[in-house]
Amino acid sequence: MNLILLGPPGAGKGTQAKLLIKQYQIPQISTGDILRGAVKEMTPMGLKAKAYMDAGALVPDGVVIGIIQERLNQADCDKGFILDGFPRTVAQADALAKVLADLGRSIDHVISIVVDKEELLERITGRRTCRNCGKGYHVTFDPPKNAGVCDDCSAELYQRDDDREDTMRKRLEVYEQQTSPLIAYYQRELLLRSIQGVGSIEEIQQKIVSALQG
Ligand code: ADP
Ligand code: ADP
Ligand code: ZN
Repeated sequence: MNLILLGPPGAGKGTQAKLLIKQYQIPQISTGDILRGAVKEMTPMGLKAKAYMDAGALVPDGVVIGIIQERLNQADCDKGFILDGFPRTVAQADALAKVLADLGRSIDHVISIVVDKEELLERITGRRTCRNCGKGYHVTFDPPKNAGVCDDCSAELYQRDDDREDTMRKRLEVYEQQTSPLIAYYQRELLLRSIQGVGSIEEIQQKIVSALQG
C-alpha cells in the first residue's frame, strides 16, 4: 500500500504513521525527520535546509524531491510506504507521480487529517520529540511513561525550535498557502479521503484504517 498522510503541522501525521507501520509493516518516510537528521549531522544538505526550517519556510522543492527519489528506490519500500510531510507543494506532488511512474507504481490512498487551528496550536506547543528516533509525544495529550524520555528508545525528548509560537504560526500560514491546494489536487485524482482528526489517537487510527479498507 502506497499511502500519503496530508495535513497541517500538528494534525497527527507522525503519530498516526508510527501506528500504521505496526499495522501494515511498511516504512514511514518523513521528510521532516530526514531533514532534521541532516541538520544534526551537519551534512551539506542539512546546512542548506536549516535556515528555511528555522524560519518556518519550506525547504526548496529540488532538495526534498531528491530525498524522496532516493528513499523510494530503497528495497524496504517495495511493499509500500507511508509518506508523512511530503508532498507539500503541487510541484512536489507532480514530481512524486513521475518518480513512482518510473518505478511502475502509483499512490493508492491520500488521507487528509483535518484539525482546527486552535487545536493545532495547542498540540504543537505541547509537542516533544525524541532526539534519536523522532517519535512525537505531547506533554498533556500523549505523555511518555517517564517524563522527558522516549518510551521506545529511552533517548531524551526535546522541544523543536520551530514548534515555538512565532515559527509555528508562520508554518500554519505556509501550509494554507502552499500545501492546502493538494487537497483539491488529490480530490481530482479521486484518491482523497478526509478524516476529522479530533478525538483520541486510537479513535483517529481506527478511522484511518476504516478509510483504507473502505
Ligand atoms: P504532525 O506530524 O502532523 O505534525 P504529530 O503527530 O507530531 O503531528 O502530532 C502533533 C502533536 O499532537 C504531538 O505532540 C502529538 O503527541 C499530539 N497528538 C497527535 N494526535 C493527537 C490526538 N488525536 N489528540 C491529541 N493530541 C494529539
Ligand atoms: P510538521 O509535521 O510539524 O509540519 P515536519 O517535521 O514535517 O513538521 O517539517 C518540519 C520542517 O521541515 C518544515 O517546516 C519545512 O521547513 C521542512 N520540510 C519538511 N518536509 C518538507 C517538504 N516536503 N517540503 C519542504 N520542506 C519540508
Ligand atoms: Zn525514541
